[in-house]
Amino acid sequence: MTSSEKRVAVITGAASGIGRALAVHYARQGVRSVIGTFPGDPHDPEETLRLVKDANGQAVIQEVDVRTTASVDHFAQRAVDEYGRLDYAVANAGILRNSPLGEMTDERWHDMLNVDLTGVLRTLRAGAARMTEGGALVAVSSIAGGVYGWEEHAHYAAAKAGVLGLIRSVAVELGPRGIRANAVIPGLIETPQSLDPVNSLGPEGLQRAGKDIPWGRAGRPEEVASVIAFLTSDEAMYITGQSLIVDGGLTIKMRA
Ligand code: NAD
Repeated sequence: MTSSEKRVAVITGAASGIGRALAVHYARQGVRSVIGTFPGDPHDPEETLRLVKDANGQAVIQEVDVRTTASVDHFAQRAVDEYGRLDYAVANAGILRNSPLGEMTDERWHDMLNVDLTGVLRTLRAGAARMTEGGALVAVSSIAGGVYGWEEHAHYAAAKAGVLGLIRSVAVELGPRGIRANAVIPGLIETPQSLDPVNSLGPEGLQRAGKDIPWGRAGRPEEVASVIAFLTSDEAMYITGQSLIVDGGLTIKMRA
């Protein structure tokens, strides 16, 4: 029996991309998941559930909108109602919007931060409230903001940088309760978000950018999911308040 067996996780944004890959990874480890799905998006949570079941895992689907505290609290509570416990909370949900500074209205700014920063706070807060010693939180930041600036994405970068300060502070606060908090900083990962040609690179841009990454390609959602799973596991028991870059070497390559 591995240390992760019988554990229970909630994952926001698990109907697609990194969140879906994480639910499947957890299924293989025997970790049961609450698959968070946002009804405003076209992603199919049933496909995540199918993949979990193919991996002989257990999961339930729960709608969640991270813009609303009551919705996130209800989401985290689903783990307790369904499985009797909550061990891991992964604040993965995020949106990406393009907005030059001159067009950055207060509304655009607040809409972005409400999901990508306050949504993370809501998820960590609701998760931690239902955890005991051994619990673990992970938030998904980005190299945009977490490492680099990104033109026309100041709101996204500000939120993703904010996530790192949030994680460090939460880690200090929850350490005495035996709960850890860490972040992952993905580089370019092939998911619906990065494949969006309007707000992100799109398929061709991703392919092009991939050639300049030391690893030679964009990342796969599974390659971030496995790191999140490591950070929540007992294997990472003495790691807290850290941010792990998962980018195939993108950020360590010097450019002239
Ligand atoms: P994705 O678009 O597939 O996943 C984002 C998920 O968040 C979707 O399932 C979406 O429905 C959900 N979501 C959006 N708004 C929500 C809301 N209000 N409430 C609840 N859920 C909501 O893309 P992804 O790349 O898998 O994104 C996962 C995380 O990784 C995001 O935080 C993203 O910013 C981050 N990230 C992605 C990349 C990349 O290159 N793909 C790079 C760095 C960071």
